[in-house]
Amino acid sequence: MASRTNETAPRVALITGGGSGIGRAAALRLAAAGMRVIVADIDGTGAEATLQALREAGGTGIARRTDVTRSDEVDALVCAAVAAFGRLDCAFNNAGIQDEHGRLLDCAEDVFDRTMAVNVKGVWLCMRAQIRQMLAQGGGGAIVNTASVAGLRGAPSMAAYSASKHAVVGLTKTAAAEYAIKGIRINAVCPGVIRTPMYDRIAAAAPRTAAIAQKMHPIGRIGEADEVAATVEWLFSDAASFVVGQTIAIDGGFTAA
Ligand code: NAD
Repeated sequence: MASRTNETAPRVALITGGGSGIGRAAALRLAAAGMRVIVADIDGTGAEATLQALREAGGTGIARRTDVTRSDEVDALVCAAVAAFGRLDCAFNNAGIQDEHGRLLDCAEDVFDRTMAVNVKGVWLCMRAQIRQMLAQGGGGAIVNTASVAGLRGAPSMAAYSASKHAVVGLTKTAAAEYAIKGIRINAVCPGVIRTPMYDRIAAAAPRTAAIAQKMHPIGRIGEADEVAATVEWLFSDAASFVVGQTIAIDGGFTAA
């Protein structure tokens, strides 16, 4: 359980990729639950739109344009969270990209490098800054990283993306094992196909891949962003107090079939 100096104070949660899709759904859900939310995204306009939506629903937060591949910007983001709300209790490292639509031989080198920079280095930089802050507060906290079902098995036409999400799983398990003793619980969510702007872009660029992916969910549909956000809220809660280093598939049975 997170140790906090004032157990009645609202908890503070940072979300990357909070300007769209799953990150936006999580920001809205966590703010509705009373948490103070820091919405970070490389798309500052998207982050501001999420902030406005959560404020209109009665929530409290700030928005900050942040590129998770830049250590200076990530460190400044955590400082901004602490400056605004005094501490950091939870972090959802969710920013990610998927820019390839072809087999391994067709993946451009710059696409591979960018995928690794955002999806892997970004998660590492974020956890580094967040764990430092949580330790400085005396330990305790919860971190969730967004991997994917593509981080649990191969994903034809998405080799770099799949490799990057397998790396997120490795980072998550290792960090979890290292910092559980300090009361910091670290887990990953592994969504199946979720209806977000990322999905819309994949469906537009590769309609066949999108159609096949839909059929691979035994539940008979793709997921909604809030279904991932609900699991993140649970992982941040004390109801998940013994859940450490897990990769939780939210996939309508995709990886079960
Ligand atoms: P999305 O494109 O709607 O949102 C991703 C957000 O990340 C965007 O707002 C984008 O601006 C932001 N972002 C991209 N690069 C960034 C950077 N360098 N720094 C900060 N922010 C950056 O996508 P989504 O579907 O909501 O995806 C969220 C996460 O879920 C990603 O990690 C993605 O890989 C993962 N995921 C999505 C699906 C799906 O089907 N949608 C499935 C499995 C995993």
